[in-house]
Amino acid sequence: MDFNLTDEQEMIKNLAREFSKNEIAPFADKYDKKAEFPHPILAKARELGLVNLIIPHEYGGVGLSPIDMILVIEEIAWGCTGIAVAVIATNSLTAEPIMLVGNENQKKKYLNLLTEELGSYCVTEPNTGSDMASIATRALRRGKGYLLDGRKTWISNAHEASFFVVFAKTDPEAGHHGISAFLVDRNLPGVEVSKKLPKMGQRATDCCEVVFNQVELPAEALLGKEGDGFKLAMHVFDHSRPVVAALGVGLSQRALDECISYSKEREAFGKPIIKYQGIGFKIADMGMRTQAARLLTYNAAWKSTVGERNTLEASYAKTFASDTAMWAAIEAVQIHGGYGYSEEYPLEKLMRDAKVLQIYEGTNEIQRLVMIRELTGD
Ligand SMILES: Cc1cc2nc3c(=O)[nH]c(=O)nc-3n(C[C@H](O)[C@H](O)[C@H](O)COP(=O)(O)OP(=O)(O)OC[C@H]3O[C@@H](n4cnc5c(N)ncnc54)[C@H](O)[C@@H]3O)c2cc1C
Repeated sequence: MDFNLTDEQEMIKNLAREFSKNEIAPFADKYDKKAEFPHPILAKARELGLVNLIIPHEYGGVGLSPIDMILVIEEIAWGCTGIAVAVIATNSLTAEPIMLVGNENQKKKYLNLLTEELGSYCVTEPNTGSDMASIATRALRRGKGYLLDGRKTWISNAHEASFFVVFAKTDPEAGHHGISAFLVDRNLPGVEVSKKLPKMGQRATDCCEVVFNQVELPAEALLGKEGDGFKLAMHVFDHSRPVVAALGVGLSQRALDECISYSKEREAFGKPIIKYQGIGFKIADMGMRTQAARLLTYNAAWKSTVGERNTLEASYAKTFASDTAMWAAIEAVQIHGGYGYSEEYPLEKLMRDAKVLQIYEGTNEIQRLVMIRELTGD
């Protein structure tokens, strides 16, 4: 077993770290406060090859393996998880199902499109998120194609997206076996991206409702086989949950770094607060849990890199890393005292940003259901 990174991995990780430190962290507060998509950062990240990491070269992407992508995302998330989701994670989530089951024409069109533009992934609806089998969106046969009708919510990057991967029922009586996935161009009549949803954190990524009102889809819009949408979404989670875990690792590391430097500087009762064991132990635990989250994350991504099933490891990593990020952010606010609560320091933003890591890509309660199922073979 070798825990060392290769020279190439060190190189791309360092590139991402420098970019995050110089081009993201100093501007994160601005994009958060304005809840604005970070277009200039996306443009620079594109120039450096720090986006569309998982898309193969032949379709215009960087062609990294899942583990290499995770190394980059962790660093970008150190600067700002909201910006990481806006410029990298959402496009990678949108690319995954196309890479998994898209035919050659779909890959050529949509993966290439993702290298220039943005896409979104649409599962959640106003009345259901965790329980995907209960989605109400319908794509019923109409002639040779389909008629898509429904409403999706919380769709990341929808305001900017030029197409959507949409999950809809093609056979409403068949439960989760009746769900199919579709590639839906934004400019089709009946597609409407409605209001941006105001939210607590990760505000550089927009989330919107997307309405599909009697949208006529050609047969070629079907992604994968009819009825295989649920299976596809579960497979995508194996790839996307390690990404969320990496966001958590980056955020925890940022909390740790901020706490180390602040607690060495800040004095109380005549000495730096790091000298008080109550503070030092918190920082030690932060380092320990961050490293444990990192190793779980690398393990989950490594398994998918070598082609092994990683459902259990992906859930372990997503849950542990997001719980660690939330815990570390709360402790970081505490260690910074009143300044931790101030908008002039980055800690309160870390705390707001961390929360959603426990919610999206399957809540941490749902992850534990996955773990039980995987552990018991039930
Ligand atoms: C910022 C943000 C970005 C998002 N981006 C996207 C996106 O791009 N695309 C997309 O499709 N969705 C997106 N989502 C939606 C997200 O995936 C869902 O919010 C999430 O899956 C939870 O679904 P829900 O909100 O409907 O909660 P519900 O499913 O209604 O769950 C409510 C609560 O009940 C718990 N619960 C539910 N079932 C069980 C059970 N069986 N056992 C124990 N507890 C249970 C949940 O854990 C949760 O605590 C995003 C959400 C947010 C906040």
